[in-house]
Amino acid sequence: MFSYRHGFHAGNHADVLKHMALLHVVNYLTEKGAPLMVVDTHAGAGAYALEDTFAQKSGEYLEGIARLWNAKHLPAPLARYVEAVRALNVEGDAKPQEAALRFYPGSPLLLLNALRPEDKLRLFELHPTDIELLARNFKGVGAPRQIMIQRADGFAGLKAFIPPPSRRAFVLIDPSYEDKADYARVADTVADALKRFPTCTIMVWYPVLPRPEARNLVPRLQRVAPKWVNAQLHVAGPRRASDGGSSMTGSGLFVINPPYTLGTMLVQTLPKLVELLRQDGGATHVLEGGEKKAPGKSARPQAPAQSEGGSDRRTAATKSPRAPAKRKPVDLEPDPREPKDDPRFRR
Ligand code: SAM
Repeated sequence: MFSYRHGFHAGNHADVLKHMALLHVVNYLTEKGAPLMVVDTHAGAGAYALEDTFAQKSGEYLEGIARLWNAKHLPAPLARYVEAVRALNVEGDAKPQEAALRFYPGSPLLLLNALRPEDKLRLFELHPTDIELLARNFKGVGAPRQIMIQRADGFAGLKAFIPPPSRRAFVLIDPSYEDKADYARVADTVADALKRFPTCTIMVWYPVLPRPEARNLVPRLQRVAPKWVNAQLHVAGPRRASDGGSSMTGSGLFVINPPYTLGTMLVQTLPKLVELLRQDGGATHVLEGGEKKAPGKSARPQAPAQSEGGSDRRTAATKSPRAPAKRKPVDLEPDPREPKDDPRFRR
């Protein structure tokens, strides 16, 4: 337990998919409406220095965010994601376009920068070092009483926050799957959350791995989700750890009660991500969606997508006027432990 450090994987292909979609969902949910309760059950350190030993050793960000950094003609949602990462890298009065890629924001920072002052952010993290880094990275940022950070189990901790008084919530469940019981805990946590609050928007990240627990997760989530979108990004064909490099060549997002715009956004962006992040000819994507049957009707798995290249109505300018938190992440101290040579830890 606790071999996993997200610092090794920050900004990799899985983070690109997750964080691009995360921004889209949170931007949509904060465009208008009552205050939003956002819970990140597995927060990590909040932000990462890519020049530190962890990221340099794995080099994973080089095949993730680095490939998008200077890419031209990105679809709008991808451009907005890169812009959010650039916000953390701008020095003084320099132009964002001139910034070098040195820091990478984790989900907590991306979320915070998208929230309005009236929205709440609840962060859970169990790793003794990462919880400390998270607390230091978030010291003094956000509106008063906006952020709560707990060193506690995020699966259990979520219960206390849903349903929130405002009846609007977004939950990110992003475990390391270091413990294979995480797969079952994700499914149980989602089922419990939907019982408490059926309209909650929930995003689950998962690795695409040839192990039964991983393969069974999506069907389990489909059984309890009223409406869902499932997206996978594969940057290469299946690979064994012994072939060198990361054996995790694909990851997925299962989003429950998604914004109606999410399917279209993914139709626009997934092919571009495949083009930019491909590591071999096996790169591809998957996109599907469904709605649980209403009484008296049959279930309908369906493509969530509308038209390719459809315009995304939302723009960052319609949102919160708050400047993004630009605090540079606290450097990670080198950790003598390497991620275990186990695909579950390779992210
Ligand atoms: N959500 C982060 C992001 O996108 O930037 C990355 C999170 S990382 C994949 C998973 C984190 O969950 C690790 O930092 C790990 O220490 C932490 N963790 C593992 N088990 C946990 C649990 N039961 N509750 C809370 N955090 C946990």
